[in-house]
Amino acid sequence: TGPALFGARGNSKGWDLTDAVDLAAIEAARGPHEARLFEAGPMVAGRPVGGLRREVRNPATGALVGHVVDAGVPDVETALRLAEPWAAAAAERAAVLKRAADLYEAEFGAIFALLAREAGKTLADAVGELREAVDFLRYYAAGAEGVKAPARGVFTCISPWNFPLAIFTGQIAAALAAGNAVLAKPAEQTPLVAALAVELLRQAGVPATALQLLPGDGAVVGRALTSDARVAGVAFTGSTETALAIRRAMAEHMDPTAPLIAETGGLNAMLVDSTALPEQAVRDVLASAFQSAGQRCSALRCLYVQEDVAGAVEEMLFGAMDDLAPGDPWDLATDVGPVIDAEAQAGIAAYVAKARAEGRVLKEMPAPEGCFIGPVVIRVGGIADLPGEIFGPVLHVARFAASEIDAVIDAVNATGYGLTFGLHTRIDDRVQRIVERLRVGNTYVNRNQIGAVVGSQPFGGEGLSGTGPKAGGPHYLARFTAVAGEAGAA
Ligand code: GLU
Repeated sequence: TGPALFGARGNSKGWDLTDAVDLAAIEAARGPHEARLFEAGPMVAGRPVGGLRREVRNPATGALVGHVVDAGVPDVETALRLAEPWAAAAAERAAVLKRAADLYEAEFGAIFALLAREAGKTLADAVGELREAVDFLRYYAAGAEGVKAPARGVFTCISPWNFPLAIFTGQIAAALAAGNAVLAKPAEQTPLVAALAVELLRQAGVPATALQLLPGDGAVVGRALTSDARVAGVAFTGSTETALAIRRAMAEHMDPTAPLIAETGGLNAMLVDSTALPEQAVRDVLASAFQSAGQRCSALRCLYVQEDVAGAVEEMLFGAMDDLAPGDPWDLATDVGPVIDAEAQAGIAAYVAKARAEGRVLKEMPAPEGCFIGPVVIRVGGIADLPGEIFGPVLHVARFAASEIDAVIDAVNATGYGLTFGLHTRIDDRVQRIVERLRVGNTYVNRNQIGAVVGSQPFGGEGLSGTGPKAGGPHYLARFTAVAGEAGAA
């Protein structure tokens, strides 16, 4: 059972971008942050420390967004020494986290501005992300009082740049709700929004020794935070490869019962059969593949369309893509923002260039100047042709015959990943049969396959996609506590 009193009414109300009043409020609130220079740095027991200061730049425009001071290994050492699990009663921890949720909502202007400028998020994506962050805070706060087992001790939380607020906050909120101390390392690309989040959490009442911020290099700070016997558990979202490296480091240096809660990559498919409503399928393909410029681990990578409708569905899809506007995410007309940085752009562009040379590019939108990839569609025989997760607005399409459905599902399972799956069909038996056969965490029927909602769609995968338990679901918090019978409790 989920935390009591967190039903649909528990989710953040959010902002309605079709409502002129909400839009005007957003414009007024984020305006002052359009050119402001933000600062971030390590906060160790409430004090700024640190080493080298570097620039953070807008991936769409190249403009300066602010500066970050990176932590070094000595700062990790100090933070570990000063870390203190949050001793307050569960009810008080819950109250503080709920207060933080209210502060996040109140600070929407600065948050939307930073999500656009630092992370390249369109306003629609930024609204979704802030709502999710707020939902995590309230959901885990609601669960805090139900947690009976003691805290584990010090938790390392390492979060990705693609949800620099929501996932950063979700990991921290869960660890804190359970009474742990947190050492948080945000992604190198997005320390500024993380620093703002920590400021709000501190303002809400999280003690300085219970939440310490350590921005910095994964190979240095991340490494130090995942190979120390004083760390009682690690929450990580990022690549499967990094999760494996963390697993190895933990095995070598940490208590064998210390949990790794990892959410990793995906190689996600959608199947559209000939009973699907094409307009609906195309709308959901666009959202699943190109929203957030495809930079979600849940994003659609390989679309399978039944051969007798494939020509018509592809034509409708390519037509719809002509209406997608790539551009600066600050601009309200923009549908597809940049990819995160020049390195990501170069890698994806090289992949697309190879497909182009092989004559497999079916549709490609022009990309603006900056770290952009124009949304693109590439022909494949099936999901096995993908070299791995291409983390950008790159959709692959394949065709299948009615007799091949089981083979398609087997191919999806054979990738070893198991995160999301989309299914468009009007045949109930088929839904049943596919869902039974599939090994993925989140399957969505007749809708898009991104944007899991906290409290109603617990999110997480199987196999190479993650360890579970699912985020935003009823079993997540327990993993941050010392389960009876296990050693290594704080
Ligand atoms: N929770 C997000 C979603 O459902 C994806 C998270 C991620 O990409 O890491 O789309």
